[in-house]
Amino acid sequence: MMEILCDIPTWQETRAEDRAKGLSLGLVPTMGALHQGHLSLVQQANSENDTCLVSLFVNPTQFDQDNDFEQYPQQIEKDLELLKSVGVRYVLLPDQEMMYPDQYRYKVREDSQSTILCGSHRPGHFDGVLTVVLKLLNLAQAEKAYFGEKDYQQLQLVRGMAEAFFIPTEIVGCPLVREEDGLAMSSRNLNLTESERQKAPLFYQILKESASVDEAKKNLSTQGFDVDYVEEHWGRRLGAVRLGQVRLIDNVEL
Ligand code: AMP
Repeated sequence: MMEILCDIPTWQETRAEDRAKGLSLGLVPTMGALHQGHLSLVQQANSENDTCLVSLFVNPTQFDQDNDFEQYPQQIEKDLELLKSVGVRYVLLPDQEMMYPDQYRYKVREDSQSTILCGSHRPGHFDGVLTVVLKLLNLAQAEKAYFGEKDYQQLQLVRGMAEAFFIPTEIVGCPLVREEDGLAMSSRNLNLTESERQKAPLFYQILKESASVDEAKKNLSTQGFDVDYVEEHWGRRLGAVRLGQVRLIDNVEL
């Protein structure tokens, strides 16, 4: 039976009862508009723990532009159906008031790795991400929490935060899931027009096949992508581009 929790105290009571029974928990934080990438995290969480909590919360503090937040895809009924179909035990559906009783006066800031790549193009983005992830980790009291390598920089920063703040939850990185044509699965893909969707797989191909960062940038521009960055860190080549109104990110192992 899947249980949908819309308030924090009820969740905390539920977790305390499960803990008393010795049940381990895997947490999967998401912003909804779920796809197979999210579900792969959920399946891993389900297989490695007694129970699983998926949070669906479009976190306003990680959006640097209001229209990006407003246009972020939402399909809550479909998400709940998908979660039910993969056997999720708990879904947390908080609202902004619940997650930010402090009105975002308190926040987590990292000063080095958050300033490069997406951090340099989206001011405040990682402050919002790290803050909401810390809140969710504290709320969930999970043994493990699952994050995708799709958001590689985010994964590095969450791991670093967990270590820096002695968070007892193990941070588990999960492989990036792609569409058959190579495009990294993303909720934002729903906002691509048909012709943009057809062009989008070239992002991955060029990132993967170009001999250098400069060549990748040149090839992406030639194909009509507006390049935010292509850089190499952590043994990976990471890129972010804009295609029309949609910002895409991806990364490949070097
Ligand atoms: P989001 O809903 O975009 O915040 O993503 C929630 C979690 O799912 C994050 O840990 C993402 O890294 C992960 N995720 C999103 N897309 C993919 C994907 N294509 N493959 C693997 N993990 C993903």
